[in-house]
Amino acid sequence: MKPQYITPDSHQGDTDMRLAIRPKAILFDMDGTLYDSMGNHADAWLRMVTELGIKATREELFLYEGRTGRSTLNIIFNRAYGHGIEPEEADRLYAIKTQYFKELPEPLPFKPMQQMVAALLGAGITPVLVTGSGQMSLIERLARDFPGAFPAERCVTARNVTHGKPSPEPFLKGLEMAGVSADEAIAVDNAPLGVRSASDAGIFTVGLVTGPIPDEELRANGADVIFKSPQTFADIIMKGLRVC
Ligand code: CA
Repeated sequence: MKPQYITPDSHQGDTDMRLAIRPKAILFDMDGTLYDSMGNHADAWLRMVTELGIKATREELFLYEGRTGRSTLNIIFNRAYGHGIEPEEADRLYAIKTQYFKELPEPLPFKPMQQMVAALLGAGITPVLVTGSGQMSLIERLARDFPGAFPAERCVTARNVTHGKPSPEPFLKGLEMAGVSADEAIAVDNAPLGVRSASDAGIFTVGLVTGPIPDEELRANGADVIFKSPQTFADIIMKGLRVC
């Protein structure tokens, strides 16, 4: 049984939530959680896949969010051709997708998440990054947008796990980096695969809605609580840090 870190606030009525237990660490997904970058990823994938002559929709590509590049390409190739893709070819195509992503306007960090991460540092709570991305461009920007929060030794990326989300491995690795156990942390992710990964790692998991992925997908994959915006989630955490 996971500790219930965020619970309905009985003083505020049914819809309001409060931080009931102070976590030692919070593990953050990157794309669509810290950054408003999901749309750009979907657009870059769609451009690359369309050029291959494969039909796909933006909505489909949103659902693959959180997977590694190789894993996404395997699914797309299996659907289009009935077989997977060689790792070398996947890496080549992923590099093209990465280039298309870079050509799009720079995704911005969610301001409430910046404020919240700064508040965590001030409160002595360890932030950790857990992303399926291997794109150095975005990872390097973390240092600028979230100063001091995510040094390399607290970043789980596609480069330091064997199995990406939805395997629990990335979030387990994140716990290890933070030096905490599953019941001492909160995880935050916006995608079904990421929520599944965090929940299967035994962590109290926040499903953050920042795009077209429906609440039910997040709940079905193990989200313990859902927030409809970065602002509402950040408000609850920052308010909670002052009292617990
Ligand atoms: Ca994400």
